[in-house]
Amino acid sequence: MSPTSIKTTCPYCGVGCGIEATLIDPENHIVDIKGDAQHPANFGRLCSKGATLGDTVSLENRLLQPEIDGQTVDWDSALTHVARRFSAIVAEHGPDAVAFYVSGQLLTEDYYVANKLMKGFIGSANIDTNSRLCMSSAVVGYKRAFGADAVPCNYEDLEQAELIVLVGSNTAWCHPVAFQRIRRAKESNPALKIVVIDPRATSTCDIADLHLSIRPGMDALLFNGLLTYLAETESLDRDFIDRHCQDFVPTLLAARASAFDLDEVAAGCGVTAHDVAQLFAWFANHKKVVTVYSQGINQSGSGSDKCNAIINCHLASGKIGKPGCGPFSLTGQPNAMGGREVGGLANMLAAHMDLENPRHVDRVGRFWGSDKVANRQGLKAVELFDAVAEGRVKAVWIMATNPVVSMPDADKVKRALQQCELVVVSDCIANTDTMALAHVKLPATGWSEKDGTVTNLERRISRQRPLFPPSGQARPDWWIISQVARRMGFAGFDYQASADIFREHAALSGFENDSMHGVRAFDISAFADIDQVRFDALQPVQWPVTAKATQGTARLFGDGGFYTPHGRASFVPIVPRGPVHAADAAYQFTLNTGRLRDQWHTMTRTALAAKLNSHKPEPTVEIHPADALQLGFRQQGLARLTSRWGSMLARVDITVSQQPGSVFVPMHWTEQLSSRGRVGALVNPVVDPLSGQPESKQTPVRVEAW
Ligand code: SF4
Repeated sequence: MSPTSIKTTCPYCGVGCGIEATLIDPENHIVDIKGDAQHPANFGRLCSKGATLGDTVSLENRLLQPEIDGQTVDWDSALTHVARRFSAIVAEHGPDAVAFYVSGQLLTEDYYVANKLMKGFIGSANIDTNSRLCMSSAVVGYKRAFGADAVPCNYEDLEQAELIVLVGSNTAWCHPVAFQRIRRAKESNPALKIVVIDPRATSTCDIADLHLSIRPGMDALLFNGLLTYLAETESLDRDFIDRHCQDFVPTLLAARASAFDLDEVAAGCGVTAHDVAQLFAWFANHKKVVTVYSQGINQSGSGSDKCNAIINCHLASGKIGKPGCGPFSLTGQPNAMGGREVGGLANMLAAHMDLENPRHVDRVGRFWGSDKVANRQGLKAVELFDAVAEGRVKAVWIMATNPVVSMPDADKVKRALQQCELVVVSDCIANTDTMALAHVKLPATGWSEKDGTVTNLERRISRQRPLFPPSGQARPDWWIISQVARRMGFAGFDYQASADIFREHAALSGFENDSMHGVRAFDISAFADIDQVRFDALQPVQWPVTAKATQGTARLFGDGGFYTPHGRASFVPIVPRGPVHAADAAYQFTLNTGRLRDQWHTMTRTALAAKLNSHKPEPTVEIHPADALQLGFRQQGLARLTSRWGSMLARVDITVSQQPGSVFVPMHWTEQLSSRGRVGALVNPVVDPLSGQPESKQTPVRVEAW
């Protein structure tokens, strides 16, 4: 008998590559992994992380039994304990005294049930996600401009473009298969121009025709300058602006006020006027332009404004909604988009509805059969852990994430959890810095066991299918949450399978989603009656998926049709702002953090693959040779980095890829892996006031030899 082959999706980045897994020895978790040649995200290609997934499915470091205060218990005891403690705290202190902190690693079905329990039945919006740290500024940017959190582009646009501008995105390492598509597009069409805007000279620059090593944080000034240039050179699409947009004039005036002169823009951005002029001319003179942006834009105290500064330029030149065009935000996580769809952020309801809109709250309440639906925003990630530290939140349930490592000011998060009344952690991993602080440990299924859907960064919903049965006592997150909800006395959580939840999620997306009630972008109502057989066979598809668009929707806004009340896109006037905390005499360097090519988040899975650990075996600090000389550093020496929030040690990597005055440290190492190498402890917790996203790219630090 030939081995079974199963199609599923990679659990790492937002590219969402399809995988074909061949079960060699299922009992011993031996599986052969290759790219799914039919999946439209990757057509068979995988990066180093996806290709080594087969090395990460052992039971090493798995949490396999529920535990309360270090004692193994059965599921009924654990679930009843969590339900009773949450109910008691809510009864005594109100619904805002509890919180969930969830993850872009969850499947859409897990996310949906967590959101339904907290916002629909506990009655608080205190559910936020680690996606807050990754792309919440992009959400604000899209909502302000389009009236909906809707990514207009798709991967084919990267292949059809004449110019691709990559801003604050090391696509080569962080979204490798999307980068491979760009590289191949450039190889087959040498006329395709690539511009990289990034303080660092990353591997993404390998294919760049132009690299603007911009001063950290000055992106909005650059794009305001571009908008001014487009107006002055008569490169505007007046027809598109007149028919489909509003607020152009005040936006242009604001852009001119900050970026009147090209030399001024160049000086402010710390690059040459020649390079700025080249970028502007290419943007103006090419019809098909995609601007790709990621954490370098989003992780900023003014990340939302930076997103809108980019979108303004695409609206002004009509470079949106057409093949090869658009402002394209790359989400970091495998299911950040699914979380956005179900309302997994503390400032969103469900199915793209709003907490502050009484009609939306009423609608969701009628759909869920609850009169307790939250009607105001909850605590966003940094606020949430501040509230835990101050004792306002007395019970927190953390699902599939490791905030003691990944949050900014991570030592404060650790202290907050140490003194919290009740910390529940559900995860597939037994030993994480966060799990070590849990009063209740709940074993969740992991990738290779999970069953449900994810949405990638181009709105494409794909199935994640199980390769093996759950290990030990592990259970799906949606099951764990539903069982707690039932024990808290709530109806509407009697799901038997993830297909039941997907069907309900799809039905809610279409519920009163019409011209009479107001059309919302997220609509997968074509699946509102999906049964288990269809769910099992579900093929990758881009939302909206409706009765009119049963095969999905590749591209949005081709004919305008924005989701604002008036149907027009909004220009947003932008006043550029630099980092909230600039380097100063005491902390002379700007610390930038980010991903490595071969690791994922806090390395709980990727560290299991020996091949991946050889790329960068320990935390490093990248520093420019001139700075290294001044500080007396030698290559591979040790450096201590200190910020106002914490300190760490790292191995010195002297490289011209760094700007003088800036240093880069990867985000991955935990206390358990490197007792002094957890960069989150240093990171500035200041946030964008609109998105709540921390400024993780610009922390002032002191750097010394150690
Ligand atoms: Fe997985 Fe992303 Fe690599 Fe694709 S590019 S294989 S989704 S990590």
